[in-house]
Amino acid sequence: MLVNLSSQPFIQELQELGGLENIYAELPEWPVSDDTVLHLATAEALATGKEGEELLHDVAFGYVEGMKDMEGRKPGPSSILGISQLQPGIEGGYRILYNPEGTGCGAAMRSMCIGLRYPRPEQLSSLVRVAVETGRMTHPHPTGFLGAVASALFVAYAVQRRPIVTWGLGLLEEACPIAKTCVQSTGYAVTETQRDWDYFIEKWKWYLDLRGLSSGIGPVNWPDRYGPAERDEAYKSFSLSGWAGRSGHDAPMIALDALLGAGSNWKELMSRAGLHGGDSDSTAVIACCCWGLLYGTEGVPECNYKNLEYRGRLESTAEKLYALSH
Ligand SMILES: [Mg+2]
Repeated sequence: MLVNLSSQPFIQELQELGGLENIYAELPEWPVSDDTVLHLATAEALATGKEGEELLHDVAFGYVEGMKDMEGRKPGPSSILGISQLQPGIEGGYRILYNPEGTGCGAAMRSMCIGLRYPRPEQLSSLVRVAVETGRMTHPHPTGFLGAVASALFVAYAVQRRPIVTWGLGLLEEACPIAKTCVQSTGYAVTETQRDWDYFIEKWKWYLDLRGLSSGIGPVNWPDRYGPAERDEAYKSFSLSGWAGRSGHDAPMIALDALLGAGSNWKELMSRAGLHGGDSDSTAVIACCCWGLLYGTEGVPECNYKNLEYRGRLESTAEKLYALSH
């Protein structure tokens, strides 16, 4: 996670580096972040085609392994704490103790691929169940694991070519009720989860109202001025305690806000989702995954991805997920 007080240094730094066209996203200067390492872990487990408990143990195993690859990548506190409790292969070993602090975006940032595995509308209950259970491996608080549901869902919606203005409403009306049923049926941390449930829902309702999207119909209601400085202030107002994008509800919220505003413009997407003063790698990883599904690499400088760390693993896993879902 990148911790900066203002987006202005990012924008200035980008200019000094010669803009996005001059960013060679490759080692040693540009390793992928903790987000991508754990996203790969989720994806590689899903790519085995396993289901149910067997899948969950494989995901837990992947997270334990992924945590050994965090030198210089700055994983979040709940991810570190949660993964340290996982015991893949042992009965119930993918469950951890309820953590009332587990509200961070660690589950949201690694769950987009669940939408690649279960992209079709009729697969929604599988998507939600896997997002809830893998999310709760580190983020048992609903503000944390519902973020995993949001990231997975938005990816499925991108595959479906569903209009972006409907995504937030779909999250609240279609996915979250399934997540609630899922929590009740598993019998794990039911009381705590119900007690802590409402914040995520209420904040998302607030956001959709702010953007005029409560009915899932555009046009989007934007502020008169919404440049980098105004966005930094707005993103803080989305957040739980002033650190934009660091929680499960607002990382996908900022990603959605960026997708709504950027359209097919890669530079604009990066400006909105990746170059702000909050947890920018997490908001960017969610936004870019959806954007790539919508627009491919259109207008993306080749140096931004050509020699990306783990590119081979990313591509082969994506191909397996594509094959499984088609
Ligand atoms: Mg991160």
